[in-house]
Amino acid sequence: MTQKLILVLNCGSSSLKGAVLDNDSGDVLLSCLAEKLNLPDAYITFKANGKKHKVELTTNPDHTGAVAALMQELQTRGLDSSIAAVGHRVVSGGELYSESIVITEEVVNGIEKCIPLAPLHNPANLLGIRAAQDIFKGLPNVAVFDTAFHQSIPEHAYTYAVPREYYRKFGLRRYGFHGTSYRFVSEETARFLGKNKNDLRMVIAHLGNGASIAAVANGVCQDTSMGLTPLEGLVMGTRSGDVDPSIFSFLAENANMNITQVTDMLNKKSGLLGISELSNDCRTIEEEAANGHEGAKLALEVFVYRLAKYIGSMAVAAGGIDALVFTGGIGENSDTIRSKVLAYLGFLGLTEDKEANVAARFGNAGVITTADSRAQAVVIPTNEELMIAHDTARLSGL
Ligand code: AMP
Repeated sequence: MTQKLILVLNCGSSSLKGAVLDNDSGDVLLSCLAEKLNLPDAYITFKANGKKHKVELTTNPDHTGAVAALMQELQTRGLDSSIAAVGHRVVSGGELYSESIVITEEVVNGIEKCIPLAPLHNPANLLGIRAAQDIFKGLPNVAVFDTAFHQSIPEHAYTYAVPREYYRKFGLRRYGFHGTSYRFVSEETARFLGKNKNDLRMVIAHLGNGASIAAVANGVCQDTSMGLTPLEGLVMGTRSGDVDPSIFSFLAENANMNITQVTDMLNKKSGLLGISELSNDCRTIEEEAANGHEGAKLALEVFVYRLAKYIGSMAVAAGGIDALVFTGGIGENSDTIRSKVLAYLGFLGLTEDKEANVAARFGNAGVITTADSRAQAVVIPTNEELMIAHDTARLSGL
């Protein structure tokens, strides 16, 4: 039998990430990252078998040019004819899509309709879709939405306490993000613990440079911390997470800042970076906090306290907690953050197993609470690309 490979594309406005996966084994045969798209010095870097090489995108420095360069790389490696379908990460499917779907012209129109909900991301995702349709002619394309897993969130959890007309007219509500990661991790957690996912009340913390948390019970999502945009909720690398919305008028009156400037500050200059005045990178923050840097110490404490508070509220949303799950770059690797968070959570029946906590890193899953804990905390590495590949293969009938 010939190998059936799935190409997974994740497009930003000036970047394109790609991965070629064997859907059966989950192995990544080739990955790429195109950067500076739409600028004269755009380039794409390919990585396979631990080796990297860079190709300048001189003649066509846009998304189509990047996909064309990827096609050429696949041809050179004799892999082009094994690509059976293309899966696309699409940031917002709004209320239109609660699951992944094969892309037709109607779906393209649907993704366009959701542009007001993800004005930076959905247009870039559409560029990737058009480029793939153009270069990988005739192959099925599948859209996998970041928001889809959260469409099960009940009305009382997704409704903001503002006049209803803004929801009716503009779709103003909580949508949530990282949904593909939550779907993958919730299934993996159930498998790892040897339980049926429908019987597990899970609180899952996806902690990366962007961070959010979700409650999953009865096999579906019950609530999540990100909202209309990925700004709400936890403290992140450069994003503030929750703040008093009056910050806008306060800074307009006192710091002469306009809406764009405050929005930019909350998204790009806040979080770990803003508090520490040092870095958005959790590793650096931990190292400098250990060296006594006051800003880094405070950034860690604020990050951990907000996270612990949210775990409590997500335990309410899940109707209790059987498993607290850590994932994402920080969740999978930082035993320091996990330890500090667990120190707040004794009242939920979670007691840290210090050795197990230190051991669970570098892509290893593990239970990190003691055997007599009433609930379990676990580390489960996420793999959004594999989830996208699985959906793409299934919906393409492979
Ligand atoms: P992601 O966005 O999921 O790739 O996660 C990126 C974040 O994970 C950055 O803040 C990194 O500093 C953090 N990270 C990765 N490895 C470690 C580690 N060993 N300890 C602490 N933070 C880590």
